[in-house]
Amino acid sequence: MKITFPHMGTSWIAIKTLVEGMGHEVVLPPPPTKRTLDLGTKYSPEFACLPFKVLLGTYLEALELGADTIISSGGVGPCRAGYYTQLQGRILREQLGYDVRVITFEPPRGHLIETYRIIRDLVKVSFPKFLACAWLAWQKLLALDALERESHRVRPLELEKGATSRILSQGIAAIEKADSVREIKNITATFLEKFKQIPKDSEYQPLKVGVIGEIYVVLEPFVNLDVVETLGHMGVYVDRSIFLTNWVTENTFLDTFRVEAERNAKKAARPYLPELVGGHGQTSIGETVLYAKRGFDGVVQLAPFTCIPEIVAKSIMPRVSKELDIPVLTLMLDEQTGKAGIATRLEAFVDLLRMRRNRLAIARGETA
Ligand code: SF4
Repeated sequence: MKITFPHMGTSWIAIKTLVEGMGHEVVLPPPPTKRTLDLGTKYSPEFACLPFKVLLGTYLEALELGADTIISSGGVGPCRAGYYTQLQGRILREQLGYDVRVITFEPPRGHLIETYRIIRDLVKVSFPKFLACAWLAWQKLLALDALERESHRVRPLELEKGATSRILSQGIAAIEKADSVREIKNITATFLEKFKQIPKDSEYQPLKVGVIGEIYVVLEPFVNLDVVETLGHMGVYVDRSIFLTNWVTENTFLDTFRVEAERNAKKAARPYLPELVGGHGQTSIGETVLYAKRGFDGVVQLAPFTCIPEIVAKSIMPRVSKELDIPVLTLMLDEQTGKAGIATRLEAFVDLLRMRRNRLAIARGETA
């Protein structure tokens, strides 16, 4: 089989390791571009949400490169993600005539036997070899998350603009090539040290902003128009609420054990949104509550246009923002959204946060 999969941030590095380790050829999904989005938009239903369009465009590009099988995750609950792969498969096969197999991994809770059957059919190597490969892929995810997290902390302090992003890209490339856990750990240590060596303004106290929202738009920089990097270059420390490892725990067996952070977010959301509304709607509210309690200066919510869970969260956000005194900027993203427009809105938001911080410092009798 020539297998491809969605492109979501740097997750392709771990998925490639896993799929190759299962004994298949990988057709890497090209990083999304304007062409990807145009292709996806052309063949998607008009009101499909943005991730649907980008993923469809990605699949089309990967099929052009020779892929014959698509692996993707499904979803449960009141959100359209659960129907994505079925609909995309029908568009590709019935409307566009591709001979393609689409394999959907549903969250294993409630689909254990089905998941076991899919894995059994996919794995062409011995079980111990597959486990070793899955462990290597997991270690790559942990390493990617560790470097990204550190880059968020260092970027607002860097004296040479772009130094952090440069080292991050080098680290990601090194992790991609690594083929043992020991090598991954060495690379992680080396690049964390490189981040330490970046010349910084250590006196500077950056604003702290939480970035929340729908998982695909939070994790794929092309779709969120590089929000995290842009904020970092504006001197803002960004705490991204979702990392690759969260995505894996939500879409694999680890889901059974549910990560504590997600449990906390859901608990924090309850006074404002006690019901699951699908996607990350409820956690978006909960994370905003938690950011307010942790003393963050503001929150940026990333929401794909027509995403019901994030629209529900957005409608509740003014109350959360007012009661907990935390400014929230919602960015609705679609195929018309441009990077310059987003940068302008972020600049205005950051100015507002700076003025607010100064005002609060004066009110406390501190020098602003
Ligand atoms: S969470 Fe929103 S963007 Fe994601 S699949 Fe569901 S409706 Fe679409």
